[in-house]
Parts: sequence; C-alpha cells; structure tokens
Amino acid sequence: MRVFDRLEQLYAIGGGPGANRPHPSEAEDEAHAVVAGWMREAGLEVEVDADRNLFGAARERRSVWVGSHLDTVPQGGRFDGALGVVAGIEAVERVGRGSVVAFRGEEIGWVGSRALVARGGGLPRAFLELHIEQGPLLEQAGLPLGVVTSIVGYARGELVFEGRADHAGTTPMDAREDALVKSAEGILRVRDAARSIEGAVATVGKLAIEPDAENVIPGRVRLLVDARAPDGDRLDALVAAIGLEPSYRTGPIPMAEELRLVLRQEIERRGLAAVELPSGAGHDAGILATAGVPSGMLFVRSLNGGVSHSPDELSSEEDVALAVEVLTASLRRLASAP
Ligand SMILES: [Zn+2]
Repeated sequence: MRVFDRLEQLYAIGGGPGANRPHPSEAEDEAHAVVAGWMREAGLEVEVDADRNLFGAARERRSVWVGSHLDTVPQGGRFDGALGVVAGIEAVERVGRGSVVAFRGEEIGWVGSRALVARGGGLPRAFLELHIEQGPLLEQAGLPLGVVTSIVGYARGELVFEGRADHAGTTPMDAREDALVKSAEGILRVRDAARSIEGAVATVGKLAIEPDAENVIPGRVRLLVDARAPDGDRLDALVAAIGLEPSYRTGPIPMAEELRLVLRQEIERRGLAAVELPSGAGHDAGILATAGVPSGMLFVRSLNGGVSHSPDELSSEEDVALAVEVLTASLRRLASAP
C-alpha cells in the first residue's frame, strides 16, 4: 500500500530508533522536501508559505484543505501527523480538488498553524484532519474509525505543599512536617478528582522538591498539574475539585457540526457505526477552528493499546485504507458544495 510505503520512507528520515523529526530540524526539512516531491507527482501545485508550511493544491476548490503535520516528538512513531499528510495527498489526487497542507512544528505548540492564523494568512473554507486516535477507545469499541466532537480543554497550574525542612536522622516521625508526604496525598486527590468526572483526566507530571536532598525532610513541594475535560463545565468542575488555580486555561474547541455530519455519513455508508469521541490531544485542527475555520477530524484506530509518541505506534493497513476512503469521499463532498 502506497500510504504505508511512504510512512516508512518518512520514518527512516532522521535516524532511529523511532521517528526523529523535531521542529526545527534538518530532518523536518527533508520530510517536507520528500513530501513536496510526492505532491508534484500527484499533479499538485506546490507552495510554501511565509511560515514554511507546505501546500499541494489541485486546480479547483483549493480553499478546502486536508492535512496535518510532518514533525514528530523525539523517538516518535510512524503515524502521528505523517498519516494525515500522506493520506491527504491521496485524497486530493483522487478528487482533483482541494489542497493538502503539511504544517510546521505541531508537536511543540502548533507553530505553523498558529503563525498562519496570527499573520492573517489566507485561511481555508474548511479543514479536515485525519489523525491516529493516540488512545485506546476505538480499539476497545472494536471500530476502525471515529469522528472527533471536540478537542479537550485543559488547565495547567501548580499546587504547593508547605512543610518544615528538618534533619532526616534526628527528627522523630511524630514531630515532622514533611511536605512531600502531604503532596503524595495531594496527588491521590488529583487522581480521584479526575476519576469522579466522566471523560476527565488529570496528571501530575512534574514536581519540585525543596531543598531536594536525601538527608533533609522536604520543606516545600510544588506539583505541576495538567487537567483536561471534554467540555467547559466539566473542566471547571475538575479544576474546582482539584483546588487548582490555573496559570493557563484553554476551553474545549468544538469541531464544526456540518463536517462531523459529513464524516459520520461517509462512515455509515460503509456499513460501520459512526462513533464520536473527544480528542484528548491538541491538533492543528483546533488552531484553525479557534480562528473560525469550520474544521473536522477523523480518527483512525490506534492498536497496541493506543500507544503513541513511541515507535510502537500502530494502525492496520485495512483501517488506514478505510480512513483514506472516508477522507476522500468527505473532501469530494466539501469541495463540491457551492
Ligand atoms: Zn499529531
């Protein structure tokens, strides 16, 4: 299958183990050059914008875009981002309408799509992004494809636990005020808060211990919390339950209903159940949606328990072939609409 051959070629760029095309890097540039070649082979007109995003445009209806990104995390997988670009070339070639886009620097904060929006670059009439789910829900449901309802909102901030730094040898257990022990209880409360709200997740991924020495009782600990939920009400409830004062908060970003409908219908037309699910990860589609572009996302099932940002990332050829079909049919409809 040509899509898989191409994903393998991109995977080889930058040297293993895993996909290594961070932004900015020579490997990301090389991937863009290789993909530009495939766009030309498909008869598309290649353009690079001021922020070095790459476009391959058909002759007609160029303002309907499909695509994703070509950069990866260090030691990433074959599918994250690259699938949406490679499949997008197939779709635009087959339909003969629309444009395929490869955005720069998605993994470090949507660099390319944000720059495009910030400079008021020509935005599309609609944007469709095919992406791997990067989670286990479709695999658990036994379904190859899903339609994204919204990109989850998230809040980040810190919880601080105060204690009293003291001697690790001479301070009796009942005379201690250990900030790290208090924060251990705090981490469990963060977990329980997320578990009590459907669809919510919360993570303590980083902590800073003071004074951070093996023979000193910790006097102060800062926990950095990442809390996410599928809609604004649940995000507010989660933040309140954790007791977090967010230093950063972004609301959930809904995908456009008209694009969700087209994707659902094209999935159902193939005899499959059209499930909808929120995206727990951020995507370029969220940046364009925030800028007012009607945007939609199609997820393809991730295997291996949904692992992503890892060389173990996997989707099957059958599922990807189906996803390319649905993407193509959806583009055909969107690019034919008056
Ligand atoms: Zn991605």
